[in-house]
Amino acid sequence: MTDRPIPTTGRSRRRFDAPETTPEDHWRAIVLFGRNVASYKFALGKSLIELAVEAKTEVNLEELAIPFSRHVAEHLQSADKQATSATSRYLDACRAFNRGEIPQDQLIDRTVELGFTNVIDAFHIVNGAPTPTTFFTDERRSGGGIRLTDALLQTVIGGQAVNLPMEIESRWRLVETAWELNLPKHLVSVQYEPEAQGLVVEDSRQRRRSVTGARGALSGYQDGACFYCGGAVDASMAVGVDVDHFLPWSLGSLGFPYNLDGVWNLVLACPTCNRGEGGKSARIPTLRYLESLHDRNEYLIGSHHPLRETLMLQTGLTEPLRASFLRGAYADAARLLIHTWEPPPQ
Ligand SMILES: [Zn+2]
Repeated sequence: MTDRPIPTTGRSRRRFDAPETTPEDHWRAIVLFGRNVASYKFALGKSLIELAVEAKTEVNLEELAIPFSRHVAEHLQSADKQATSATSRYLDACRAFNRGEIPQDQLIDRTVELGFTNVIDAFHIVNGAPTPTTFFTDERRSGGGIRLTDALLQTVIGGQAVNLPMEIESRWRLVETAWELNLPKHLVSVQYEPEAQGLVVEDSRQRRRSVTGARGALSGYQDGACFYCGGAVDASMAVGVDVDHFLPWSLGSLGFPYNLDGVWNLVLACPTCNRGEGGKSARIPTLRYLESLHDRNEYLIGSHHPLRETLMLQTGLTEPLRASFLRGAYADAARLLIHTWEPPPQ
């Protein structure tokens, strides 16, 4: 079992119930909470989604190598560091392909030979143990490749089908950017850029680099649901979900002394909750949502480099300090804005 923190939306009030986790939860645990020494898990995850959507079940290593190598080669073009180790024969082969020095069939051969060494074994491992759901079985010992499971198929065509591919892409971008920056971990800070609705980081010369869309980066930590009402959202489209400042952005013009664009203050909300009639607009949510925000932020802390470090830098090194930070910010916001808001009952 994974020991990840409790999700925050809809189902979050199950703190003392027996946790009923779903295959979607296990998929997200793999994508969001595993430790990474290379980005191959993300390439494999994206490949699994594509192959399952094509209704494949038995996949030999050559077939798997096609999407896998395409994803790694594409990501190398925007971020040359795809592993924590200094050298990698496999990444060198992908770079040679990108430079036009080797053809695709040779890249496929190199992928079969070098690309899957650890990732097929390690894919399902989260917090030191395999997830309860198996998304593929390894048939390499009997001369095969991998066999995709029904659980994978159901997960990638299920209710969260639109969100899972972008969640994996966003997580990949966050990890590779953190590696590329090469800053001490405690100095990596992810911020929100409202105009582009994207996340940015500052490099060692304080230049801002865009990383990924905020919707894809936050969706997995809210189970693809609205933070306030728990209704499913479509994070793949800007019209399907809003990036909401929990403590309203308008506080900035009132001299509010906190960084409102920090990841700690960003949640995804359905358009009805955020801007519909009776929507939140520039009000602060009632206190119980502050608790949900704290839970959500602790959930982000479970995600390693760079969101963990970002949350610690922005709100405190320990859980009590982070709770006290939120209490302080909330109290100051309440003094300025007075009115609180709750989503209308559904
Ligand atoms: Zn909502």
